[in-house]
Amino acid sequence: MTRAPDCLKCRHFFVTWDTRYPRGCRVFEIKSRELPSHVVLRSTGRQCPSFERSPKVDAG
Ligand code: SF4
Repeated sequence: MTRAPDCLKCRHFFVTWDTRYPRGCRVFEIKSRELPSHVVLRSTGRQCPSFERSPKVDAG
């Protein structure tokens, strides 16, 4: 995978309701302004390995 996974389509993503850090990931316990997968890439040097498509997101 060359691009960071789309957290918005991932079942581990959540909205924190913290306006400063609105995007959260339950796997990595991240809250940030940007997509959690970008934070994971920057801090680990690797793409997030934990993407799982949310059942709430339509295929495609
Ligand atoms: S597991 Fe990975 S893809 Fe899913 S929300 Fe967290 S950082 Fe994003």
